[in-house]
Amino acid sequence: MSASAVDLHLHSTASDGRLDPSALVAHVAARGVRLMSLTDHDTIAGLAEASAAADAAGITCVTGIELSAVWRGRGIHILGYDFDPEAPAMGAMLAGQHDRRLSRARQIAARLDRARAPGQAALELALAATPLPTRTHFARALAELGVAPDAPTAFEQWLARGRPGYVTGEWPTVAATVECIVASGGAAVIAHPHRYTLSNGVRRELGTEFREAGGAGVEVATGGANATQFDMCLSLAVRCGLEGSAGSDFHDPAVPWNPPGRLAKLPTSLRPVWRRFRAPAGCIEQA
Ligand code: AMP
Ligand code: MN
Ligand code: MN
Ligand code: MN
Repeated sequence: MSASAVDLHLHSTASDGRLDPSALVAHVAARGVRLMSLTDHDTIAGLAEASAAADAAGITCVTGIELSAVWRGRGIHILGYDFDPEAPAMGAMLAGQHDRRLSRARQIAARLDRARAPGQAALELALAATPLPTRTHFARALAELGVAPDAPTAFEQWLARGRPGYVTGEWPTVAATVECIVASGGAAVIAHPHRYTLSNGVRRELGTEFREAGGAGVEVATGGANATQFDMCLSLAVRCGLEGSAGSDFHDPAVPWNPPGRLAKLPTSLRPVWRRFRAPAGCIEQA
């Protein structure tokens, strides 16, 4: 698979990525990406640095975020792009997500403690690393505390859905999340649709509700997805009348399966969501 010039799903140390925004931009640009978006979990804290680094590297960086939402009791991630970071609707969302992440982190810690894992100690380590702890931060802390040999194992044993430390979180609904992104002048995209354990029919209900709320697109080219998963995401976009997007969900250069820019091409029949972007890079082709 050739490198893609577009990668709209990337994480930095502003949430659970391993590279700081400047190092991320350098890494992404070196892999041939010309249009990127930094989409940290529920925060835009890395965007100013990423944007300055992108200007210096001669590539385009559009504002981005990955918002945690809930739909029918499940966690769903909604990407927002090219919004006004100073829009009041986005400001209210960011403040709310901050509170909800902290309160969920305390619930995760309490649940871990009840299961005789060092939840409180893990919370303290997580909060030393970030003001907005994700489960990734808990996984790293549990590994550091010797509860598991490494962070991926800690995640699977303690934090994955159905495990003792799992808490969905009291996130806004998908519809409210889309409305916030649209009210802030941005475009909303369903992140990694293949990762939700939903039947195809129910996934289409999600796609339809998402579009009716004002959603723009679906991640079709996603990092590490196989051909079956790509086809499923593509069919979701086509059946629900949504546009296509491309993003690796890159977090860590030590993880080999989703490097920035290693993405399948969108079929030419599917409109790319980045054509909506106000930036001149709206005309960048994915190839
Ligand atoms: P949160 O938003 O706090 O629920 O954390 C979600 C993050 O955990 C995702 O963005 C991934 O970076 C990470 N993650 C999700 N599933 C796994 C897994 N099975 N193993 C390791 N990390 C994961
Ligand atoms: Mn993550
Ligand atoms: Mn996600
Ligand atoms: Mn992500």
